[in-house]
Amino acid sequence: MNANLSAFTMRRRTLNWKAVKLYDEVMRVLTFGNEALRQKSEPVENIDGEIESLLAGMFKILERHKGVGLAAVQIGIPRRFFITRIGNDAPRVFINPLIIETSGELADYEEGCLSLPGVWGQIMRPKMVRLQARNEKGKLLTIDADGILARVIQHECDHLDGTLFIDKLSALKRERLLNKYEKLKTKK
Ligand SMILES: [Zn+2]
Repeated sequence: MNANLSAFTMRRRTLNWKAVKLYDEVMRVLTFGNEALRQKSEPVENIDGEIESLLAGMFKILERHKGVGLAAVQIGIPRRFFITRIGNDAPRVFINPLIIETSGELADYEEGCLSLPGVWGQIMRPKMVRLQARNEKGKLLTIDADGILARVIQHECDHLDGTLFIDKLSALKRERLLNKYEKLKTKK
C-alpha cells in the first residue's frame, strides 16, 4: 500500500465494499469522441454513500492509470466533483468546486488527460488559484493552490464544464495532437 493513500484507505473501510467492487468493475474512463465528456456537470446535492463509493473507485482508477486528477464526468457521472493525487501529496477530493481567484502570472506546462491517453500539449494557465470546495466529509474549504496542484485543479474544473485541454491549443496544434492520438488509437 502506498503510504500517501493511508488517510483515504482508512476512510474507505467504512464503505460498502460490495458497491466499491461493483463500481470498480464497471468504471471506465471515457475517451475523446464520447459526447458525454462535453456535457456540463450538475452540482452534488448530497455527499452520500454513492458519492463515497464513486470516490473510492475513482482513486483506484487514478492509481491504475498513474494519473494525477480525475473528474466524475470522465467516468460518465456528470456531477461536479473531482479527485487529485500528486506525488507525495495527500489524495484530495473537491466537491462543487468554485475558482474564486486566479493569479495574473501565467505558467506554461505540459498537460495530458486520461481521456486522451498518450498525448500531451503545452498549455498556458494562471500559476495560482484560490478556490472553494467541499471535501469528502462535506466540509467547505478555501484552498490556495500553486504549482502542479493549481494546474490539475484548473484542468479538472474545465472537465466539469465540458472543456478539454486540447480546446486551449491553437487549431494547428490541436490538429497535430489529434492526428497523433488517432494513430495511437488505431495501433492498439
Ligand atoms: Zn483530463
